[in-house]
Amino acid sequence: MAKAKTWIEPHPGGIYVKPADLWIDPSRPVERAAVTHGHADHARSGHGAVFATPETLAIMALRYGVDAEASHNQAFPYDDGFELGGVRFSFHPAGHVLGSAQILMEYAGERIVVTGDYKRRADPTCAPFEVVPCDIFVTEATFGLPVFRHPPTGEEIAKLIGAVRAEPDRSVLVGAYALGKAQRVIAELRRAGWDAPIYIHGALERMCQLYAVHGVDLGELRLVSETGKAEMAGQIVLAPPSALNDRWSRRLPDPVTAMASGWMRVRQRARQRMVELPLVISDHADWDELTTTITEVNPKESWITHGSEDGLLRWCELTQRKARALHLVGRDLEEEA
Ligand SMILES: [Zn+2]
Ligand SMILES: [Zn+2]
Repeated sequence: MAKAKTWIEPHPGGIYVKPADLWIDPSRPVERAAVTHGHADHARSGHGAVFATPETLAIMALRYGVDAEASHNQAFPYDDGFELGGVRFSFHPAGHVLGSAQILMEYAGERIVVTGDYKRRADPTCAPFEVVPCDIFVTEATFGLPVFRHPPTGEEIAKLIGAVRAEPDRSVLVGAYALGKAQRVIAELRRAGWDAPIYIHGALERMCQLYAVHGVDLGELRLVSETGKAEMAGQIVLAPPSALNDRWSRRLPDPVTAMASGWMRVRQRARQRMVELPLVISDHADWDELTTTITEVNPKESWITHGSEDGLLRWCELTQRKARALHLVGRDLEEEA
Protein backbone atom coordinates (compact mmCIF):
# COMPACT_ATOMS: atom_id res chain seq x y z
CA MET A 1 0.00 0.00 0.00
CA ALA A 2 2.88 2.34 0.58
CA LYS A 3 3.48 2.13 -3.14
CA ALA A 4 0.62 4.45 -4.14
CA LYS A 5 2.07 7.29 -2.15
CA THR A 6 5.01 7.30 -4.50
CA TRP A 7 2.95 7.90 -7.64
CA ILE A 8 -0.04 9.93 -6.48
CA GLU A 9 0.31 12.99 -4.25
CA PRO A 10 -2.57 14.83 -2.58
CA HIS A 11 -1.71 18.52 -2.38
CA PRO A 12 -3.90 21.31 -0.99
CA GLY A 13 -4.46 22.49 -4.58
CA GLY A 14 -5.44 19.14 -6.08
CA ILE A 15 -4.26 15.59 -6.61
CA TYR A 16 -1.02 15.22 -8.53
CA VAL A 17 -0.37 12.08 -10.58
CA LYS A 18 3.38 12.01 -10.81
CA PRO A 19 4.20 9.59 -13.67
CA ALA A 20 1.68 11.37 -15.92
CA ASP A 21 2.59 14.88 -14.74
CA LEU A 22 -1.14 15.57 -14.49
CA TRP A 23 -3.43 17.12 -11.85
CA ILE A 24 -6.97 16.09 -10.98
CA ASP A 25 -9.38 19.01 -10.36
CA PRO A 26 -6.53 21.46 -9.69
CA SER A 27 -7.46 24.78 -8.05
CA ARG A 28 -4.94 26.72 -10.14
CA PRO A 29 -4.00 26.63 -13.85
CA VAL A 30 -1.74 23.69 -14.77
CA GLU A 31 -0.29 22.13 -17.90
CA ARG A 32 -2.48 19.01 -17.84
CA ALA A 33 -5.72 18.61 -15.86
CA ALA A 34 -8.21 15.77 -15.64
CA VAL A 35 -11.52 17.26 -14.50
CA THR A 36 -14.29 15.29 -12.78
CA HIS A 37 -17.16 17.72 -13.49
CA GLY A 38 -18.10 21.26 -14.39
CA HIS A 39 -18.70 22.88 -10.96
CA ALA A 40 -16.43 25.85 -10.37
CA ASP A 41 -14.61 24.29 -7.40
CA HIS A 42 -13.42 21.44 -9.65
CA ALA A 43 -13.27 22.91 -13.14
CA ARG A 44 -11.11 26.01 -13.37
CA SER A 45 -10.12 27.94 -16.44
CA GLY A 46 -6.61 28.42 -17.79
CA HIS A 47 -5.26 24.86 -18.05
CA GLY A 48 -2.99 23.90 -20.92
CA ALA A 49 -4.93 20.70 -21.68
CA VAL A 50 -8.13 19.36 -20.15
CA PHE A 51 -9.14 15.70 -20.12
CA ALA A 52 -12.82 15.21 -19.27
CA THR A 53 -16.12 13.79 -20.48
CA PRO A 54 -17.66 15.50 -23.54
CA GLU A 55 -20.43 17.01 -21.36
CA THR A 56 -17.93 18.44 -18.85
CA LEU A 57 -15.89 19.99 -21.67
CA ALA A 58 -19.09 21.49 -23.12
CA ILE A 59 -19.97 22.94 -19.70
CA MET A 60 -16.45 24.39 -19.33
CA ALA A 61 -16.74 25.87 -22.81
CA LEU A 62 -20.01 27.52 -21.82
CA ARG A 63 -18.72 28.84 -18.49
CA TYR A 64 -15.18 29.87 -19.37
CA GLY A 65 -15.12 30.00 -23.11
CA VAL A 66 -12.68 27.06 -22.99
CA ASP A 67 -12.61 25.76 -26.52
CA ALA A 68 -13.94 22.22 -26.38
CA GLU A 69 -12.58 21.68 -29.86
CA ALA A 70 -9.10 22.96 -29.01
CA SER A 71 -6.57 20.35 -29.96
CA HIS A 72 -5.07 20.12 -26.47
CA ASN A 73 -8.37 19.19 -24.82
CA GLN A 74 -9.65 15.66 -25.07
CA ALA A 75 -13.13 14.28 -24.45
CA PHE A 76 -13.74 10.71 -23.30
CA PRO A 77 -17.14 9.08 -22.93
CA TYR A 78 -17.84 6.93 -19.86
CA ASP A 79 -15.73 3.78 -19.55
CA ASP A 80 -13.24 5.19 -22.03
CA GLY A 81 -9.95 6.88 -21.27
CA PHE A 82 -6.31 7.41 -22.12
CA GLU A 83 -2.80 6.43 -21.12
CA LEU A 84 -0.13 8.87 -20.01
CA GLY A 85 3.25 8.10 -18.46
CA GLY A 86 2.23 4.50 -18.00
CA VAL A 87 -0.93 5.44 -16.07
CA ARG A 88 -4.25 4.29 -17.54
CA PHE A 89 -7.01 6.87 -16.85
CA SER A 90 -10.72 6.20 -17.41
CA PHE A 91 -13.97 8.04 -16.67
CA HIS A 92 -16.95 6.45 -14.88
CA PRO A 93 -20.36 7.93 -13.98
CA ALA A 94 -20.57 9.74 -10.62
CA GLY A 95 -24.32 10.53 -10.68
CA HIS A 96 -23.70 14.12 -9.53
CA VAL A 97 -24.51 16.38 -12.52
CA LEU A 98 -24.52 15.99 -16.32
CA GLY A 99 -21.15 14.56 -17.41
CA SER A 100 -19.83 14.08 -13.87
CA ALA A 101 -17.22 11.35 -13.64
CA GLN A 102 -15.13 9.39 -11.20
CA ILE A 103 -11.61 9.03 -12.51
CA LEU A 104 -10.01 5.58 -12.28
CA MET A 105 -6.23 5.35 -12.52
CA GLU A 106 -4.38 2.08 -12.98
CA TYR A 107 -0.62 1.96 -12.53
CA ALA A 108 1.81 -0.78 -11.56
CA GLY A 109 -1.00 -3.16 -10.64
CA GLU A 110 -2.74 -0.65 -8.39
CA ARG A 111 -6.16 1.00 -8.86
CA ILE A 112 -7.09 4.41 -7.48
CA VAL A 113 -10.51 6.05 -7.93
CA VAL A 114 -11.10 9.78 -7.41
CA THR A 115 -14.86 10.29 -7.13
CA GLY A 116 -15.12 14.06 -7.46
CA ASP A 117 -18.61 14.82 -6.11
CA TYR A 118 -21.22 12.07 -6.29
CA LYS A 119 -24.59 10.83 -5.16
CA ARG A 120 -26.35 7.47 -5.27
CA ARG A 121 -30.01 8.34 -5.64
CA ALA A 122 -31.79 8.51 -8.98
CA ASP A 123 -31.39 11.68 -11.04
CA PRO A 124 -33.19 11.96 -14.41
CA THR A 125 -30.53 14.38 -15.69
CA CYS A 126 -27.41 12.21 -15.48
CA ALA A 127 -26.03 8.67 -15.62
CA PRO A 128 -26.16 6.77 -12.29
CA PHE A 129 -23.06 6.28 -10.10
CA GLU A 130 -21.10 3.17 -10.88
CA VAL A 131 -19.28 1.15 -8.19
CA VAL A 132 -15.67 0.85 -9.43
CA PRO A 133 -13.53 -1.59 -7.42
CA CYS A 134 -10.18 -0.12 -6.38
CA ASP A 135 -7.35 -0.18 -3.84
CA ILE A 136 -7.58 3.48 -2.87
CA PHE A 137 -10.92 5.30 -2.95
CA VAL A 138 -10.74 9.09 -2.80
CA THR A 139 -14.23 10.08 -1.69
CA GLU A 140 -15.99 13.39 -1.11
CA ALA A 141 -17.66 13.95 2.28
CA THR A 142 -19.77 17.10 1.91
CA PHE A 143 -22.48 15.56 4.12
CA GLY A 144 -20.19 13.29 6.10
CA LEU A 145 -22.09 13.47 9.39
CA PRO A 146 -24.92 11.17 10.54
CA VAL A 147 -27.28 14.15 10.91
CA PHE A 148 -27.38 14.46 7.12
CA ARG A 149 -29.98 12.09 5.75
CA HIS A 150 -31.73 13.43 2.67
CA PRO A 151 -35.46 12.64 2.37
CA PRO A 152 -36.81 10.94 -0.78
CA THR A 153 -36.68 13.41 -3.69
CA GLY A 154 -40.31 12.70 -4.64
CA GLU A 155 -41.50 13.93 -1.24
CA GLU A 156 -39.72 17.26 -1.65
CA ILE A 157 -41.10 17.71 -5.18
CA ALA A 158 -44.61 16.92 -3.90
CA LYS A 159 -44.12 19.60 -1.22
CA LEU A 160 -43.20 22.10 -3.92
CA ILE A 161 -46.20 21.29 -6.11
CA GLY A 162 -48.46 21.38 -3.02
CA ALA A 163 -47.19 24.87 -2.15
CA VAL A 164 -47.95 26.22 -5.64
CA ARG A 165 -51.46 24.76 -5.64
CA ALA A 166 -52.17 26.08 -2.13
CA GLU A 167 -51.67 29.70 -3.18
CA PRO A 168 -52.77 30.20 -6.79
CA ASP A 169 -52.34 33.99 -6.55
CA ARG A 170 -48.65 33.71 -5.72
CA SER A 171 -45.70 32.18 -7.52
CA VAL A 172 -43.19 29.88 -5.87
CA LEU A 173 -39.62 31.02 -6.47
CA VAL A 174 -37.10 28.18 -6.11
CA GLY A 175 -33.43 29.02 -5.61
CA ALA A 176 -31.35 26.36 -7.37
CA TYR A 177 -27.74 26.36 -8.53
CA ALA A 178 -27.35 26.99 -12.23
CA LEU A 179 -25.45 23.80 -13.04
CA GLY A 180 -27.22 20.61 -12.09
CA LYS A 181 -29.71 21.50 -9.38
CA ALA A 182 -31.92 23.73 -11.54
CA GLN A 183 -32.18 21.14 -14.32
CA ARG A 184 -32.76 18.31 -11.87
CA VAL A 185 -35.62 20.16 -10.11
CA ILE A 186 -37.20 20.85 -13.50
CA ALA A 187 -36.81 17.23 -14.68
CA GLU A 188 -38.20 15.92 -11.37
CA LEU A 189 -41.20 18.25 -11.68
CA ARG A 190 -41.85 16.87 -15.18
CA ARG A 191 -41.59 13.36 -13.82
CA ALA A 192 -44.17 14.23 -11.18
CA GLY A 193 -46.55 15.36 -13.93
CA TRP A 194 -46.04 19.16 -13.75
CA ASP A 195 -46.39 20.03 -17.44
CA ALA A 196 -47.08 23.78 -17.24
CA PRO A 197 -44.34 26.08 -18.53
CA ILE A 198 -41.62 26.62 -15.91
CA TYR A 199 -40.31 30.18 -15.62
CA ILE A 200 -36.58 30.77 -15.31
CA HIS A 201 -34.14 33.57 -14.50
CA GLY A 202 -31.96 34.51 -17.48
CA ALA A 203 -28.84 33.18 -15.69
CA LEU A 204 -30.19 29.63 -16.03
CA GLU A 205 -31.08 29.78 -19.71
CA ARG A 206 -27.88 28.64 -21.40
CA MET A 207 -27.19 25.76 -19.02
CA CYS A 208 -30.76 24.50 -19.48
CA GLN A 209 -30.24 24.68 -23.24
CA LEU A 210 -26.98 22.72 -22.90
CA TYR A 211 -28.78 19.99 -20.96
CA ALA A 212 -31.50 19.84 -23.62
CA VAL A 213 -28.87 19.54 -26.36
CA HIS A 214 -27.44 16.57 -24.43
CA GLY A 215 -30.79 14.82 -24.42
CA VAL A 216 -32.28 15.92 -21.08
CA ASP A 217 -35.87 16.91 -21.81
CA LEU A 218 -36.89 19.85 -19.61
CA GLY A 219 -40.22 20.66 -21.29
CA GLU A 220 -41.31 24.24 -21.95
CA LEU A 221 -39.21 26.91 -20.23
CA ARG A 222 -40.02 30.62 -20.36
CA LEU A 223 -37.87 33.56 -19.37
CA VAL A 224 -39.18 35.66 -16.50
CA SER A 225 -37.85 38.74 -18.31
CA GLU A 226 -40.23 38.07 -21.20
CA THR A 227 -43.28 37.33 -19.08
CA GLY A 228 -45.92 39.56 -17.49
CA LYS A 229 -46.28 39.43 -13.71
CA ALA A 230 -49.86 38.12 -13.70
CA GLU A 231 -49.00 35.16 -15.92
CA MET A 232 -46.69 33.76 -13.22
CA ALA A 233 -49.38 33.50 -10.53
CA GLY A 234 -49.82 29.87 -9.55
CA GLN A 235 -46.58 28.96 -11.37
CA ILE A 236 -43.08 27.75 -10.54
CA VAL A 237 -40.11 30.05 -11.09
CA LEU A 238 -36.44 29.03 -10.82
CA ALA A 239 -33.52 31.36 -10.19
CA PRO A 240 -29.96 31.14 -8.88
CA PRO A 241 -29.91 31.42 -5.05
CA SER A 242 -28.33 34.89 -5.29
CA ALA A 243 -31.53 36.21 -6.91
CA LEU A 244 -33.84 35.00 -4.14
CA ASN A 245 -33.78 38.12 -1.98
CA ASP A 246 -32.77 40.44 -4.78
CA ARG A 247 -34.72 43.29 -6.42
CA TRP A 248 -35.18 40.95 -9.34
CA SER A 249 -37.80 38.94 -7.44
CA ARG A 250 -40.14 41.94 -7.41
CA ARG A 251 -41.13 41.01 -10.93
CA LEU A 252 -42.96 38.03 -9.50
CA PRO A 253 -46.43 38.03 -7.95
CA ASP A 254 -45.84 37.87 -4.16
CA PRO A 255 -43.37 35.00 -4.39
CA VAL A 256 -43.10 32.19 -1.84
CA THR A 257 -39.35 31.76 -1.41
CA ALA A 258 -38.05 28.20 -1.70
CA MET A 259 -34.59 26.73 -2.03
CA ALA A 260 -33.39 23.31 -3.19
CA SER A 261 -30.21 22.26 -1.37
CA GLY A 262 -28.90 19.58 0.95
CA TRP A 263 -28.12 22.40 3.38
CA MET A 264 -31.84 23.08 3.80
CA ARG A 265 -31.70 20.25 6.33
CA VAL A 266 -30.10 22.84 8.61
CA ARG A 267 -32.84 25.21 9.76
CA GLN A 268 -30.48 28.06 10.42
CA ARG A 269 -29.29 28.02 6.79
CA ALA A 270 -32.88 28.30 5.59
CA ARG A 271 -33.50 31.19 7.98
CA GLN A 272 -30.32 32.99 6.85
CA ARG A 273 -31.61 32.99 3.30
CA MET A 274 -35.15 33.86 4.42
CA VAL A 275 -36.41 30.68 2.80
CA GLU A 276 -40.05 29.90 3.58
CA LEU A 277 -40.08 26.55 1.84
CA PRO A 278 -36.82 24.61 2.32
CA LEU A 279 -36.48 21.69 -0.10
CA VAL A 280 -33.86 19.13 0.88
CA ILE A 281 -32.74 18.11 -2.59
CA SER A 282 -29.01 17.45 -2.85
CA ASP A 283 -26.59 16.41 -5.58
CA HIS A 284 -24.20 15.04 -2.94
CA ALA A 285 -24.33 11.69 -1.19
CA ASP A 286 -25.85 11.85 2.28
CA TRP A 287 -24.41 9.98 5.28
CA ASP A 288 -26.02 6.66 4.36
CA GLU A 289 -24.97 6.95 0.72
CA LEU A 290 -21.36 7.70 1.74
CA THR A 291 -21.07 4.77 4.13
CA THR A 292 -22.91 2.39 1.76
CA THR A 293 -20.58 3.39 -1.05
CA ILE A 294 -17.41 2.79 0.97
CA THR A 295 -18.85 -0.58 2.01
CA GLU A 296 -19.65 -1.53 -1.59
CA VAL A 297 -16.41 -0.31 -3.11
CA ASN A 298 -14.55 -1.91 -0.19
CA PRO A 299 -11.16 -0.35 -0.91
CA LYS A 300 -7.98 -1.15 0.98
CA GLU A 301 -7.86 2.50 1.97
CA SER A 302 -10.17 5.54 1.74
CA TRP A 303 -8.96 9.09 1.34
CA ILE A 304 -11.60 11.56 2.46
CA THR A 305 -11.99 15.11 1.20
CA HIS A 306 -14.45 17.91 0.48
CA GLY A 307 -16.55 18.53 3.60
CA SER A 308 -17.06 16.80 6.92
CA GLU A 309 -13.93 14.72 6.66
CA ASP A 310 -13.63 13.96 10.36
CA GLY A 311 -17.11 12.42 10.66
CA LEU A 312 -16.51 9.92 7.88
CA LEU A 313 -12.97 9.30 9.09
CA ARG A 314 -14.33 8.34 12.51
CA TRP A 315 -16.84 5.95 10.91
CA CYS A 316 -14.01 4.30 8.99
CA GLU A 317 -12.03 3.88 12.20
CA LEU A 318 -15.03 2.41 14.04
CA THR A 319 -15.63 -0.09 11.22
CA GLN A 320 -11.92 -0.95 11.03
CA ARG A 321 -11.35 0.58 7.62
CA LYS A 322 -8.08 2.26 6.80
CA ALA A 323 -8.64 5.94 6.00
CA ARG A 324 -7.09 9.38 6.03
CA ALA A 325 -8.40 12.91 5.56
CA LEU A 326 -7.04 15.05 2.73
CA HIS A 327 -7.26 18.75 3.17
CA LEU A 328 -7.77 20.20 -0.27
CA VAL A 329 -8.35 23.93 -0.60
CA GLY A 330 -10.91 25.88 -2.52
CA ARG A 331 -13.73 23.38 -2.41
CA ASP A 332 -16.76 25.61 -2.28
CA LEU A 333 -19.42 23.60 -0.52
CA GLU A 334 -22.13 26.23 -0.85
CA GLU A 335 -21.93 26.46 -4.59
CA GLU A 336 -23.59 23.24 -5.50
CA ALA A 337 -24.82 21.23 -2.56
ZN1 LIG B 1 -19.93 19.38 -7.73
ZN1 LIG C 1 -17.50 20.03 -5.30
